[in-house]
Amino acid sequence: MGIFDRRQKPPAPEDAPARPAAPAAPSAPPELPLLRRRLEETDGIALGRIATHDLSPDAKAVADRLNARLDALASAEKEQIQFIADVSHELRTPLTVLRGSLEVALEEERTAEEYREAIGNALLEVRHLTRISQNLLFLTRGESGRVTLSFANLDLGRFAAETVREVTPLAEDRELVLTVSVPDHPVYVFADSGRLQQVLHNLLENALRYTEAGGRVEVRVESAPGEARLIVKDTGVGIPAEDAPYVFERFFRSKASRRVNPGGSGLGLSIVRWIVAAHKGRVTVESEVGKGSTFTVALPML
Ligand code: ADP
Repeated sequence: MGIFDRRQKPPAPEDAPARPAAPAAPSAPPELPLLRRRLEETDGIALGRIATHDLSPDAKAVADRLNARLDALASAEKEQIQFIADVSHELRTPLTVLRGSLEVALEEERTAEEYREAIGNALLEVRHLTRISQNLLFLTRGESGRVTLSFANLDLGRFAAETVREVTPLAEDRELVLTVSVPDHPVYVFADSGRLQQVLHNLLENALRYTEAGGRVEVRVESAPGEARLIVKDTGVGIPAEDAPYVFERFFRSKASRRVNPGGSGLGLSIVRWIVAAHKGRVTVESEVGKGSTFTVALPML
């Protein structure tokens, strides 16, 4: 029975008084009026904390719990405000470029070739905006529990070899050597193959983008006791040690890599982290600037 409960606590049988009946209008416990007053002080202040200095221990315990919920709400609100600011910031750059190239195209009569170039540039930005909105939609759906995964047994080795085969032409275009090595026995995991493909695509896309021509990208599958590992290793630009803990955060982009890939959105690795967590796995990164990065996805093995 909480202190907000106006009913009087029934006496324990052993200390039940000899009186025949409880009073018709039981008086409230003394801490209730004080707690009510402290609550009223915060009327009109949406996230106003309840003062607890003069409350009894029981009333203080209740007020502390309410205050803790208000703290959680305040930090969720802060995160949301930051998220909206980040989204607006990320949308602003491609929109500015898009507007600029269309305005320049319309300024005067142009040749067909010039129009084609302007439309081509505009299209690149539209694609970038589409990617951002698709990724954002996926993340927000995921976080609100609206992405359903369909799990099945999957041989991680075969899966990795097939995905790498699809991506090989892209690596060749970028003059990179892409290799895959998998154990000669099946490595079964319980996974949603479409989502896992999204994970490997995102990791491979990064490895190819952040590695200069002539570099190497290697995909490896390993099995350890109780754990299967999918490893994507590159000889690219690397990630500064101070940035490594943040690369899985939404919109985080390391300064150095912004130069190599100005078109990134900082959402790919947040999606990787979300999908891997939904598989009860974890993803980690080890990296050295100028030498390369290794991303490891560890999944529970069947
Ligand atoms: P982006 O669209 O910017 O690539 P991601 O979420 O995929 O977004 O990655 C976040 C940041 O992590 C990147 O901007 C980059 O700084 C860093 N990063 C990710 N993968 C690599 C890699 N293979 N090599 C170097 N830096 C990487």
